[in-house]
Amino acid sequence: MNLIDEIRACAVCAKSLSAGPRPVVQFSATARLVIIGQAPGSKVHRSGVPWQDDSGDRLRAWTGLSDPEFYDPAKVALMPMGFCYPGKGKSGDLPPRRECAPLWHERMLATMPDCRLFLLVGSYAQAHYIGTGNLTEAVRDFRTHGPRFFPLPHPSWRSAIWIKRNPWFETDVLPALRRAVRKALRGSSK
Ligand code: SF4
Repeated sequence: MNLIDEIRACAVCAKSLSAGPRPVVQFSATARLVIIGQAPGSKVHRSGVPWQDDSGDRLRAWTGLSDPEFYDPAKVALMPMGFCYPGKGKSGDLPPRRECAPLWHERMLATMPDCRLFLLVGSYAQAHYIGTGNLTEAVRDFRTHGPRFFPLPHPSWRSAIWIKRNPWFETDVLPALRRAVRKALRGSSK
């Protein structure tokens, strides 16, 4: 069985997933940009299309990626911390399943030797890849994590409040993000 079929068949945490397993990922051997988010929401669980929701629209606007670019696995890998919708908690969706990233991420990344840039979208991806627990500091100090990692807030509706408190995100971070994304897709490592 190849890796994508193994992932699609995964039911490791089925007992904890109220909506059942439905891993939602996108990747290919030539991907240059890896977007590591949290976990699919209920809308994405239903459609099976990653980031096809309001958060995805915001993320595409932040990165400057068109829909065709974003959904081209030859260029972009979409690899959340938890591949399946974790279900509802008391205040929004539950966190991504802890079992998922240790089980799959390294194996997926081993198939993508051309990855230039990792967008770490939200605190779970940042804790896992750059070991930071303070999202605002990680995003503000994004240059210290480059050129490989680029921390971002999660683009949920709540991000509008966060951006209002942190106006440097739009003036300083977003232009740098768009440049880093373009550079990664050009394949230039300079
Ligand atoms: S969340 Fe990840 S580990 Fe759990 S069932 Fe889905 S694919 Fe498997």
